[in-house]
Amino acid sequence: MRVLALLDGTLADPGTPLIRVDDLGLVRGDGVFETVLVVAGEPRELGHHLDRLARSAAMLDLPEPDRAAFERMVGLVVDNWAGGREMALKLVYTRGVEGGDGTPTGFALGTDISAKVAGQRAAGLAAVTLERGVEPGLAERAPWLLLGAKSLSYAVNMAALREAERRGAAEVVFTTSSGSVLEGPTSTLVLVRGRELVTPPSTLGILPGTTQAALFRAATREGWTVKVEPLVVDELYAADGLFLVSSVRKITRVHTLDGKALPDSTALHAELVALYEALY
Ligand code: PLP
Repeated sequence: MRVLALLDGTLADPGTPLIRVDDLGLVRGDGVFETVLVVAGEPRELGHHLDRLARSAAMLDLPEPDRAAFERMVGLVVDNWAGGREMALKLVYTRGVEGGDGTPTGFALGTDISAKVAGQRAAGLAAVTLERGVEPGLAERAPWLLLGAKSLSYAVNMAALREAERRGAAEVVFTTSSGSVLEGPTSTLVLVRGRELVTPPSTLGILPGTTQAALFRAATREGWTVKVEPLVVDELYAADGLFLVSSVRKITRVHTLDGKALPDSTALHAELVALYEALY
């Protein structure tokens, strides 16, 4: 099941070609996106996703996204969805056609959650650490690298996932050359130590996650301590649980890191999922 809405407020057939071949989003990856989880017709964290879309667009010097138009597209897709209880809703916003009048291209596409993601939510996954060659301070020193923007240029992230598969794993934990932990290619890393949740700071040049923020909100209410601080790889092995979180995958347990089994965090996983779901 797929439902497509366009920035002008119309619905379109997702099977029909619509994007021009000279769209800069296509030929340069010059645009931004968001993926929102919709459950039983309710988009989760939509305000935060739209805030982040605007922040990413500003980092790329794109025109400010028309928030009302994006909200309208979301409503259109949700109202016309006749698929399963959950939907992945992708919002895309590009610089428009090369040499054009600067009108951005925008659309919202709702799709089913893949069986692969659903399986990983339930069973957990194996991850590998891979270097991303980003050192602390770089994001601030070199804003043109767009570190921490959710740009359409995700070819590197996808290549890292293929490398993980070659190494017999399903996911990646990016690290700096000096062994600091960053994030997954499409997820935020959350570590559990006792009754404490820890995630690396977005100042390292990683995406501030809406799911991580939601989980921290829920955990704080229940008396957990939450920390945003740098982590090194050794701390991942010493943790009680390691999780990759994102809108579509929700909270996914990492059971194996670089071929080594991590402590069993099945019960912890169930506890975090319950915390997170109680928010909605
Ligand atoms: N980090 C990166 C690089 C991502 O692409 C994503 C989402 O796709 C996330 C983290 C998690 O963000 P969210 O929880 O808002 O989905």
